[in-house]
Amino acid sequence: MPTALITGITGQDGSYLAERLLAKGYTVHGLVRRNSSTVRTRLDPLFYDKDVYNERLFLHYADLDDVTTIRRILHKTMPDELYHLAGQSHVGASFEIPESTCQFTAMGTLKLLEILRDLPTPPKFLHISSSEIFGRPDESPQNETTPMRPVTPYGIAKAFATQMTTLYRDSFELFACNAICYNHESPRRGESFVTRKITKAAAAISLGLQDTITLGSLDGRRDWGFAPDYVDAMWRILQQPAPDDYILGTGIDHSVEDFLAIAFRVVDLDWRDYIQQDPRYLRPAEVNRLLGNPSKAKQQLGWTATTQLPEIVRIMVQHDLRELQP
Ligand code: GDP
Repeated sequence: MPTALITGITGQDGSYLAERLLAKGYTVHGLVRRNSSTVRTRLDPLFYDKDVYNERLFLHYADLDDVTTIRRILHKTMPDELYHLAGQSHVGASFEIPESTCQFTAMGTLKLLEILRDLPTPPKFLHISSSEIFGRPDESPQNETTPMRPVTPYGIAKAFATQMTTLYRDSFELFACNAICYNHESPRRGESFVTRKITKAAAAISLGLQDTITLGSLDGRRDWGFAPDYVDAMWRILQQPAPDDYILGTGIDHSVEDFLAIAFRVVDLDWRDYIQQDPRYLRPAEVNRLLGNPSKAKQQLGWTATTQLPEIVRIMVQHDLRELQP
């Protein structure tokens, strides 16, 4: 059975992807950053499965700039497929920490590509790119040929990593691909992203644990999909006969205000009674509207984002209610 290596295995996508690949019979190796905490909640179901952890799932310590360590891990594990998910993925935070965002997201990807270039039999490589590369695009919806016009440090770092991935495919014959992912959410989404912040607040307010929710701009529009759908597409990209880039989105956009309304409706409340706005959450430059055209993924991968926003929100709010219930 094939072997996969995942960078960013402890994140939302990494944990779903690991589960998906293990269910398909893969051996899965994950890179994790060394720190004093060993709490990796998203991987808990796998840790406690004694047929899986340290049998078919293995974790290795390495930061993305530990080139020597990563090279050693690649030589030792000899993966067939490398899914590169790691990086600083919060757009708002990228304005506070642009240097480390670029160091990990941009240079981290280039360093991986450099390692692969030197391997005698490099694994197939998938870079998880982002719709943020389009920034303020000239066209809507965006497709694989839409010019990149990023307007945030995160988007600029991702544009660099995306173009390097394409360059290494064209120049060094690597099987290197980009999954250009629009926002994708789930109960495992980090709590600083607007979706999870809203579903958690709706649950907490309905349980009497919180009084208000404080947000920034409510006008932004995003193409929000369901993370478990997206990791399926990631796997499909690496099963194609030739490497290529794909837009992964739902083709439908909603505003932050729409998201609020749907989430509070799940708990029978009106969001307008609880909202507060704080300029602290405004960004120096805002991406107004991102909408993907996933036609190529549909035609070539046979993939569509099946879970629609109202269902995603319901799943997230209900999960947060269960988690917060005393
Ligand atoms: P992004 O598309 O990767 O930036 O995903 P986010 O979930 O971080 O933000 C989505 C949209 O929600 C952006 O337009 C943000 O400006 C907007 N937003 C409004 N209030 C907040 C907030 O309190 N936190 C976050 N993260 N985003 C907010």
